Amino acid sequence: MRLKNKTILITAAGQGMGRASALMCAAQGAHVIAVDINADALTSLAQESKLIETHILDVTDSQAIALLATQLPDLDGLFNCAGFVHHGTVLDVTDADWAFSVDLNVTSMLRLTRSVLPGMLRRAELTGSAAILNMASMASSIKGFPLRTVYGTTKAAVIGLTKGIAADYVKQGIRCNAICPGTVDTPSLRGRIASAADPVQAEKDFIARQPMGRLAEVSDITPLVVYLLSDESRFVSGQAILVDGGVMI
Ligand code: NAD
Repeated sequence: MRLKNKTILITAAGQGMGRASALMCAAQGAHVIAVDINADALTSLAQESKLIETHILDVTDSQAIALLATQLPDLDGLFNCAGFVHHGTVLDVTDADWAFSVDLNVTSMLRLTRSVLPGMLRRAELTGSAAILNMASMASSIKGFPLRTVYGTTKAAVIGLTKGIAADYVKQGIRCNAICPGTVDTPSLRGRIASAADPVQAEKDFIARQPMGRLAEVSDITPLVVYLLSDESRFVSGQAILVDGGVMI
């Protein structure tokens, strides 16, 4: 049980990597507080493990975050997973699209971290450590991809946020890291494929950018999530760790 006695909050836990992470963390003994805007997805998630408690939460809603924070125990782990993929070039993006992506992909992580950090600092003082994990991407400051300028900008900011938090709290037992996945087969990726002009070609194109010749499964990503939220990674902080199937070889 690699996460025994840990309480971990995970955003975007209704589907995709957030959901798989919630299940994996619970399987490793953590008490998981799973949040999402999708009530049905949370209901089905809660049925899968007694160690998972769920709350409807829109991570762009500061008031809702503040309210939830008053109900939460002190956390050992926070996984800021929520994010949105904007599709287009700088000529396609409106100010509203830009603001939405920055709000959901970056500012939400700041909001949630700010709300739970005092409790995490108390836990770190008691136990020696607490861990924050932020969802970035290989599409970020690490690599540019066509039609991902807005997305890549926000995920680059996530890496900056991660390093800043890590630097500020390293002496108080808080570690903060980011994961940078390649292309992962999740419901939203399937949505991006389905909404392409030629979905068959779109799927081939997504696979073609992965040198291993396949998309990642969520189970390719969750072991890294567990590692970074567990004490096994106690000497790791401020890192943006790729799990990209060799894209950046
Ligand atoms: P997904 O996009 O399929 O699901 C996202 C979940 O987030 C949904 O359950 C949705 O209801 C929830 N959500 C959306 N807006 C929310 C909000 N305002 N508040 C709370 N919850 C909200 O899952 P995914 O593809 O695993 O993506 C999760 C994260 O991983 C995102 O940050 C994404 O950018 C990142 N990522 C995805 C890939 C990929 O290829 N799928 C690759 C790298 C990084």
